[in-house]
Amino acid sequence: MEMTEVFDKLKNLQNVLVEKYDLEQKIDKSPKQLDTQNGFLARLKEEYIEKNKSYEEAKAKVDALRAELSGVEATREAAEKDMDSVTNHREYEALDKQIKESKDKEEEIRRNLKDEEEVLARLDEALKGDESMISTQEAELNQNKEALDKEIQEYKDQLAELSKQEEEIVPGLDQEIVYKFQRIIQRNSEGIVAVKNGVCTGCHMILPGQFANEVHDGEKILFCPYCSRILFHQDVAEGEVEEYSTLDETGSLADFDDEFADEYEDSEAVNNDEDGDMDDEKSLSFED
Ligand SMILES: [Zn+2]
Repeated sequence: MEMTEVFDKLKNLQNVLVEKYDLEQKIDKSPKQLDTQNGFLARLKEEYIEKNKSYEEAKAKVDALRAELSGVEATREAAEKDMDSVTNHREYEALDKQIKESKDKEEEIRRNLKDEEEVLARLDEALKGDESMISTQEAELNQNKEALDKEIQEYKDQLAELSKQEEEIVPGLDQEIVYKFQRIIQRNSEGIVAVKNGVCTGCHMILPGQFANEVHDGEKILFCPYCSRILFHQDVAEGEVEEYSTLDETGSLADFDDEFADEYEDSEAVNNDEDGDMDDEKSLSFED
């Protein structure tokens, strides 16, 4: 295959890959869109459970007070009935005392009961409010989930289409090159760039003269020693000046991924050295 054809293939592949990685990222991030809403709903439910516990406790108190009240009422009614068959003054006084005590007790219980019933009513109202809030939130969340699922499905359809295009482009390209190319694009979004006037248009570094000549010859795939991108020669239009920087100006090149920094020395080599530092020695090796 002609090198120009390889470069064209790589450029086409780049367009596909950039779009593909963008979609993959969107799919990855999508579920997080609902995190806040999910969190809010979970908190509402927790609060509801707590409030419901308080409601149950208040309900138990009300029930106990009602039972106590009817017990005291029964005692009093029995005493009142016994009054009909009283035979002496002592008996009368004892019953009268019991009735009075019962009445006092009933009054006290009724007061407590009224307070507790008010608490219960307030909690009941709050629970109903929470229930309606929860169901509104749930409905909204489900609606958003559906919309999101639809969106993700659309992304996946687009991804499938891109994968098809990728499969059409890739045959004929060196697998190792394609693999490196994919990784560069994943990081830098641009995997193949032009060299103009001996300057890499990816990182704007001036390339070593002999190396730039090799790029110009276009006989093999060469990676920029500074930014690892694949390079192809492009003539400069009249008057066009390519901006460039030098190592001295930029200082550290640490932000550039130099994992592939030494690839140009031996493009056949499979190098997985994560610490492959780009030192001056390597840069200078081009000069001779
Ligand atoms: Zn570069």
